[in-house]
Amino acid sequence: MTAMVSVRGVHRTYGSGRTAVHALRDVSFDVAPGELVALVGRSGSGKTTLLNVVGGLDRPDEGTVLVDGTEVTALDDGGLVRLRRDVLAFVFQTFGLVPVLSAAENVGVPLRLRATPVAERERRVELLLRLVGLADHADQRPEEMSGGQQQRVAIAAAVANAPRVLLADEPTGELDETTSGQVFEAIRHVNRELGTTTLIVTHDPSVAEHVRRTVQIRDGRTSTEVLRRSTVDEHGREQLVAEEFAVLDKVGRLQLPREFVEALELRDRVRLGLEPDHVSVWPDATEEDR
Ligand code: ADP
Ligand code: MG
Repeated sequence: MTAMVSVRGVHRTYGSGRTAVHALRDVSFDVAPGELVALVGRSGSGKTTLLNVVGGLDRPDEGTVLVDGTEVTALDDGGLVRLRRDVLAFVFQTFGLVPVLSAAENVGVPLRLRATPVAERERRVELLLRLVGLADHADQRPEEMSGGQQQRVAIAAAVANAPRVLLADEPTGELDETTSGQVFEAIRHVNRELGTTTLIVTHDPSVAEHVRRTVQIRDGRTSTEVLRRSTVDEHGREQLVAEEFAVLDKVGRLQLPREFVEALELRDRVRLGLEPDHVSVWPDATEEDR
């Protein structure tokens, strides 16, 4: 299946010379149509830069980005405007709601801009508010709602015109843990019910409980991926299995998860073995003699 979002060999450097900051170094990854992916990493690891490059808000120095088959990195300004109008939607840490409008009216704004007929608009607004768990708050203004509720209104508004892709940058940045969970769940419902391909960028590791695929970014490179799937055990109970994968770049480099490195006290160099169906990694046994 063709990816909905395809990032290939993207580099982005700010500044030049000795003060250059390599925000992204050879990042590649794909997001399948309808997939919900979280991109996690510490502050400064390159998450926002990557999301901005995917959304056409920033241009990479090298590499390509395709969204729904369109090469974002080759678009002119007019093409970028159309992409952001017809294909992409954004959610940011700040909610961006209109203070004097109710939740329902805020969600209706993008529909009005498209001249959606009233009856259809009302149906759509109702559906969207229900998806984000705010059916009972339609008439409240932003100041009458909690931060988490406001963010859920912002999510409903972002997907009002059925974008193919939703990009969320630190959507829970200002929120406490419980509220963050509700915001991630709202995004998950939207993803599942509307099929919106979604990329959430966050430094909040709790996002992992709400998505099946988490990609870790470290120092401008994707390092590991965790995939979760549910299986049924021998007693017929559903169990969630998490598998961790390291990302292998095109020259064969990979980053071992920090816990693995620490558990075996790996450092400087390791011994590798090629087996018929796997590669083994041992601590360097000669180290004691050095
Ligand atoms: P994150 O979103 O993961 O916190 P960013 O993508 O914002 O990370 O930043 C990655 C790196 O690039 C950081 O070192 C940051 O300081 C640097 N950076 C981001 N934007 C700029 C800019 N406009 N000019 C210079 N450096 C920048
Ligand atoms: Mg950021």
